[in-house]
Amino acid sequence: MKLFAKSYSRREFIKTNLIAGTGAVMGAGTTSRVLASCTEINKNTPAVLGGSPLITSHDWPSWPVWKPETDEKRLLEVMRSGVWSRNKVTDEFEKKWAQLLGSKRCLAVVNGTNALNASLAQLEIGWGDEVLVTPYTFIASISCILFNGAIPVFVDVDPETFQMDPAKIEEKITPRTRAILPVHILGLPCDMERIMSIARKHNLLVVEDACQAWLAEINGKKVGTFGNAGCFSFQTSKNMPIGEGGAIISDDNAFMDRCFSYHNYGNPYGSTAGQIGVGTVMIGTKLRITEYQAAIGLAQLERLEEQTTIRNQNAEYLKSLIGKIPGIVPYRLYENVTKAAFHLFPFLYNKEYFKELPRNKFMEALHAEGVPCSGGYTELNKMPYLKNAFESKYYRKFYSAEQLDYDKYAQENRCPLNEKLCNELAVWIPQNILLGSKSDMGNIASAIEKVYLNAEKIKNKKS
Ligand SMILES: *Cc1c(COP(=O)(O)O)cnc(C)c1O
Repeated sequence: MKLFAKSYSRREFIKTNLIAGTGAVMGAGTTSRVLASCTEINKNTPAVLGGSPLITSHDWPSWPVWKPETDEKRLLEVMRSGVWSRNKVTDEFEKKWAQLLGSKRCLAVVNGTNALNASLAQLEIGWGDEVLVTPYTFIASISCILFNGAIPVFVDVDPETFQMDPAKIEEKITPRTRAILPVHILGLPCDMERIMSIARKHNLLVVEDACQAWLAEINGKKVGTFGNAGCFSFQTSKNMPIGEGGAIISDDNAFMDRCFSYHNYGNPYGSTAGQIGVGTVMIGTKLRITEYQAAIGLAQLERLEEQTTIRNQNAEYLKSLIGKIPGIVPYRLYENVTKAAFHLFPFLYNKEYFKELPRNKFMEALHAEGVPCSGGYTELNKMPYLKNAFESKYYRKFYSAEQLDYDKYAQENRCPLNEKLCNELAVWIPQNILLGSKSDMGNIASAIEKVYLNAEKIKNKKS
């Protein structure tokens, strides 16, 4: 917690005013008493109706974290050396990332999107193949499948865990299924043990999209190390921020050699930046990161483990608090999960317990109380990019008209639970909030409780 000790004093008054109450009843652990503890405060007019916000003038931990004293030395060395293209600092970063995750090899690339594109390409997942994927994700998890000419097949989610439901995978397998692409979305691990056993049974490749799940673990084994390849993102909003950046990890040397070659114009494995006359052995592109990106990455690596621990502790505490509010169901982790990454803190919102207050009004009220939140993803199995791909020259050349019957595809790929999750249930709190103090978590719970107690009034607000 010492990372953020500086900002505690500014929030001290909140702690003494509110959390003493919430904290005191935690041990008692009954629903009614948690609610009772803050009822007096929370009877006050909700901020969205003109009352005072529960969390005032609060500076949530800022993101990304950058500490000149410790972080700039390496970066300046790189800048002053004039060696800016891929070289020893990138090698060092890759080695450290592989070691930290318990993987044999790592290749740093320009971003998570291209880590996925390259991984699928080098596993020869492409034309004619179907890839099983969750609809509840960031677009890059799906565009990588189309980018390589394969067809995404959507597996509905388990709304409690927010992940691809492993119980629904097998019914989607056809003779054309080539791979599963589990996404550890929001930084909560998929049930990889179960997914790997399905993959083994049906002889499928597995590419893990761990672009939100740095250091997350299942039974002590890091996610990204279960499948044939694991992909990561280091974009600024991510928990391991470089600005832009990504990585592929794998224990498969031949695959990693091909990825290296692919990321460096198709030149042979081990050829360095600027080396001429080495020949070109395969179709490649250029996905190299710079030395200064690697230097930033090395600085960020110094705090990733500590931050991940803080996020886990705060998430668990916040979960224990808000789980007592009727109509609020926090995320559930699979039993084999030993650590999550918490790129987001998600919970389900059931408006039936909030006098039918719609989710957007609930979030608006929460915002007004000083809690940042959002409703998260929209349905990726229903967007125009899919039809656009199906209508493209290449898809028409490689697939039969029947396979490209979009209405049939849309029907077969309906995901009713994902629909509910996206449009009604999900609420996210961003990861930097989880780097706050324990009392901050109490304040978030109090804010949700305040909205709960005033749901009727908020619903009747004239907009
Ligand atoms: C961010 C993200 C990506 C893509 O990473 P970029 O570095 O932004 O290209 C892919 N998948 C998921 C789940 C992500 O969150």
